[in-house]
Amino acid sequence: MKTPEEYIESIRKLNLNVYMFGKKISNTVDNPILKPSLNAVAMTYSMALKPEFQDIMTAISHITGKRINRFTHIHQSIDDLVKKSKMGRLMGSHTGCCFQRCVGMDALNALSIVTYDIDAKYGTHYNKRFLKYLEYVQENDLVCAGAMTDTKGDRSLPPHKQSDPDLYLHVVEERKDGIVVRGAKAHLTGAVNSHEIIVMPTITMREEDKDYAISFAVPSDTKGITYIIGRQASDTRKLEQGKMDQGNVSFGGHEALTIFDDVFVPWERVFMYKEYEFSGKLVEQFASYHRQSYACKVGVGDVLIGAVQTIAEYNGVDKAAHVKDKIIEMNHLNETLYCGCIACAVEGYREASGTYSVDALLANVHKQNVTRFPYEISRLAQDIAGGLVVTLPSEEDLKSEEVGKLIRKYLAGKQHVSAENRMKVLRLIENLTIGTAAVGYLTESLHGAGSPQAQRIMISRLVDMKKKQELAKKLCGVKDETS
Ligand code: SF4
Ligand code: FE
Repeated sequence: MKTPEEYIESIRKLNLNVYMFGKKISNTVDNPILKPSLNAVAMTYSMALKPEFQDIMTAISHITGKRINRFTHIHQSIDDLVKKSKMGRLMGSHTGCCFQRCVGMDALNALSIVTYDIDAKYGTHYNKRFLKYLEYVQENDLVCAGAMTDTKGDRSLPPHKQSDPDLYLHVVEERKDGIVVRGAKAHLTGAVNSHEIIVMPTITMREEDKDYAISFAVPSDTKGITYIIGRQASDTRKLEQGKMDQGNVSFGGHEALTIFDDVFVPWERVFMYKEYEFSGKLVEQFASYHRQSYACKVGVGDVLIGAVQTIAEYNGVDKAAHVKDKIIEMNHLNETLYCGCIACAVEGYREASGTYSVDALLANVHKQNVTRFPYEISRLAQDIAGGLVVTLPSEEDLKSEEVGKLIRKYLAGKQHVSAENRMKVLRLIENLTIGTAAVGYLTESLHGAGSPQAQRIMISRLVDMKKKQELAKKLCGVKDETS
């Protein structure tokens, strides 16, 4: 396994084509806006080397028998699935943000299942190819970004009917040694902190769209790939001298619009090629895993609740009955989320490939809760923290010779609580609920791993409604007449 330092140096060596604020960024590793997101991924390496977290953060590879980072592991048991959920909470609570490495893990696991299933039907050799690639990822302890969401153009039209065929990523040329692809993937989490990109289709494809039913992996600095970094609220605070106004002073996340402009992919890295009837399975398998991965929000919720309890104490309101009750509610919601991600793991099962899958219904229910509860937890956090979350003067004002002493005098909390400490905690609450981390804690909770309606469709499909009706009819003595 790599050390965090080795990881950072390995990213420095990449030749990525990255744009931000209209300019090419030649060095992403030392860029102040991107640095916190790199730090967050580096934590997936440092935590794996700590003996106290070894059981959660690492696993034994089923292909090499070596100890590997769990983010590169293929789940071999229910225990592995449970530990994956625990790892998400642990990492979220130590970074307070999106640590970016789950999408690749979920893509690897989904492909371990679907490549096997395609081979079983067609006698192809995708699974062997995939396992070779997996070994490379595990041996080098790599970060894989998962690229699923196409830019989609007119949502009412399938890929082949779009006015611009590139609005969904597709194959444009087939060569002896590989394929050439074109298109773009949106919202690529941790894009420029990744060594590899694993591409999957975004929706179930039909025969007319088989050129779009492709999955493959490429090194992140492959020729033809361009990254355009997404803006986040208050992102330029990271350019300021002082750290306090960032709230979370070390960690963050990033997403990028990622363009594939005639990118060549050798055959040994192609894991699905026009087997359109397996595209839906790949999408759903990945989605179920990634919905489970939103255990991360529980860890971020731990941080937010801790900040809220602290500010309540600093403000001298922690004994008020309604404040206590609101914090109980925050904990109740957060632990309910934890129940969901543990439950879908415990109710997991073994797929034909040997990989363990989560229970899809419970994973979808969990993610549906994630689309709501962090918003309510954030509302309660802002309720308890008070208006200063949005009216607080800056760190520069606190340092100012003219007004600094006024801030210290008037923004002090209860006795022995400095204005500075209050400001730090309030900035963290701001960061999590409306600042850069709200990208991960709120909007990503809503849309990441599929928007709320996607889970509702899956819930309606997966629930055994007939069985429920039979139970009800039996208990009230209903016997349907047959015509
Ligand atoms: Fe992982 Fe959560 Fe970030 Fe998704 S949002 S990559 S699950 S930390
Ligand atoms: Fe996500």
